[in-house]
Amino acid sequence: MKYNVDENGYYGEFGGAYVPEILYRNVKDLKANYLKIMGEPDFQKELNQLLHDYVGRPTPLYQAKRLSEAVGAKVYLKREDLCHTGAHKLNNALGQILLARRMGKTRIVAETGAGQHGVATATVCALMNMECVVYMGETDVKRQFLNVQRMKMLGAKVVPVMSGNRTLKDATNEAIRDWCCNPRDTFYIIGSVVGPDPYPDMVARFQSVISEEIKRQLKEQEGRENPDYLVACVGGGSNAAGTFYHYLDTDSVKLIAAEAAGLGVDTDKSAATIHLGRVGVLHGSKSLVMQTDDGQIIEPYSISAGLDYPGIGPMHAHLARCGRSQVLAVTDQQAMDAALQLTRLEGIIPAIESAHALAALSQIKFKPTDVVVLTVSGRGDKDMNTFSTYFEGKI
Ligand SMILES: *Cc1c(COP(=O)(O)O)cnc(C)c1O
Repeated sequence: MKYNVDENGYYGEFGGAYVPEILYRNVKDLKANYLKIMGEPDFQKELNQLLHDYVGRPTPLYQAKRLSEAVGAKVYLKREDLCHTGAHKLNNALGQILLARRMGKTRIVAETGAGQHGVATATVCALMNMECVVYMGETDVKRQFLNVQRMKMLGAKVVPVMSGNRTLKDATNEAIRDWCCNPRDTFYIIGSVVGPDPYPDMVARFQSVISEEIKRQLKEQEGRENPDYLVACVGGGSNAAGTFYHYLDTDSVKLIAAEAAGLGVDTDKSAATIHLGRVGVLHGSKSLVMQTDDGQIIEPYSISAGLDYPGIGPMHAHLARCGRSQVLAVTDQQAMDAALQLTRLEGIIPAIESAHALAALSQIKFKPTDVVVLTVSGRGDKDMNTFSTYFEGKI
């Protein structure tokens, strides 16, 4: 358990629960109950059945032959883009709502950036007939119109947030504020491996189904459970945490995390938190944070609305610090080119977030016999406007 969470909710020096007094009880209740409830046979049965019949799991592990040729290694894609609602987010939203129901909660709040977590949460709230309020920065409301419409059709109330630069960080502040006002009946469904302990561990466990399946599928297809490399993009870090989870202590498997460099790590328009961040507390946990000398949050930038977050899950801060993971910074341009490359080679249009993982492949020196598993965290439908504008005249 060198790399996983300890009993106090820390990954090395990162993690913990830094919450206002009024939420202390909520966080403590959750911590006291989540592992117990998640371990109950009845919970397991309901979750697994829904993952299978509703989310569409197991998602395929697809050997991408043309991409492999271009990369110079044997590349498998873990197809989270084929999950219901278009990304890995639903694995977690579903797990958390089943937990919320068993804890007697009746109202759900969530934050969203690109809108994928908002859609996943609105989806499970419709399924479970629970009230749903989603906080979303006003900038994101404008640029993610399709997902806003989806959430509304699903019956969620979408609240535009007008503070800060009106994106994910500000939406998260507002969701936490709501939770503080309604601690008794409300459950906060966080969308990534961030937030106060036990959220990072809970979300990682709900997403760990990804690596559980990779182990089984790779054994079937390749005759061995362990790839040489695992590659995933990191925003807050949930799809990467799910991809790495069952391999954390298998040192022969190299872990590659791709973060969004925006226009470049040496510009002031970046979201590469592990490269640029310093130790600080954001949204309830201690991790690496993009901040000024006097501790003000630096507004992140990435072409991908799902990756422009100034923090990072404490697990990833720790993995990077220990040298267990290698973190590569990928610019907007590299990601967009990689998205087009995958589309033309394999007929798969990835989310721009996932394209950051794909672009990282060209920064690694592979042996031709290397087996690489890369998680395609989501599909590109939501990004078609951005792709069309970016590639204007070229596609
Ligand atoms: C939200 C999102 C991400 C980033 O979130 P993580 O918690 O880092 O996984 C990545 N890809 C897609 C498709 C997303 O929707």
